[in-house]
Amino acid sequence: MEVRKARALGFCFGVRRAIRVLEEASREHGGIETLGPAVHNQQVVDRLSGMEIRVAQSLEQARGGVVAITAHGAGPEVLAEIRARQLYVVDATCPIVRRAQRRARELSRAGFGVIIFGEVTHPEVKGLLGWADSKAVAALEGAELTSFSPLPRRLGVISQTTQNRSGFAQFVGELMAVLPPRVRELRIIDTICQATQKRQEAATELAQRSQLMVVIGGRDSANTRRLAEICSTVVETHRVEMASEIDEAWLKGKSSVGVTAGASTPNEAINEVVLRLKSFGESSQAGSI
Ligand code: SF4
Repeated sequence: MEVRKARALGFCFGVRRAIRVLEEASREHGGIETLGPAVHNQQVVDRLSGMEIRVAQSLEQARGGVVAITAHGAGPEVLAEIRARQLYVVDATCPIVRRAQRRARELSRAGFGVIIFGEVTHPEVKGLLGWADSKAVAALEGAELTSFSPLPRRLGVISQTTQNRSGFAQFVGELMAVLPPRVRELRIIDTICQATQKRQEAATELAQRSQLMVVIGGRDSANTRRLAEICSTVVETHRVEMASEIDEAWLKGKSSVGVTAGASTPNEAINEVVLRLKSFGESSQAGSI
């Protein structure tokens, strides 16, 4: 059985950078707390906690004097509250997320209502809503825009960085179909991250050459979920957090298995999955001799 990895998978530069920033800050300050998990991957969070990088789910929960903003970023109201509490802030916001935040603010300051194509409960989207000065809504379907009331005459559309481009295009299409004539201007800004795009393209390409796809990533990882959604439109796909979750029965009759992983999945988790798949492949070959 052949096991192939997607040509782009796992940690993106934004996550690598954030982890480096957090590790350096923890060494410097003798321990820090991140506002929410540093990444949506429990193994990485556990490893970081061994380096005195702990998770505070909210500012109320923060016990130390140093809090870190994760790669997902945070809204200006969160930064203001940190200042009000006189805490030291370490900012590990990904530069690509920061660029989307700037776009949200520019649109809002120029008088546009801001529509964010994204999951309203995701930390990055919550931050983007904040940067748009409350003149924003987040939605995944054009028809959900009824919550934008009254509807501004000028609208700007941006995307959560980890959404996929075809979904964004479809969203914009739906939007144009439901917007009333009183909307005079629609400005669309592509804020989708290249690293996400590359992982999605590589996953699609590999899924087309495989009989089964295994997608590795944390349960709460939105970009891992999207990789699994994309692969499952092409071929049988299973999503796992770690190698032990792989069921040998999935591999029955399969001669080619593809592996991809979300942007917050460490190399160790990927290597363990590949090794386990290969070991199952070898044992099924031995059994068929
Ligand atoms: S997926 Fe893209 S936007 Fe998100 S952290 Fe990685 S590089 Fe930054």
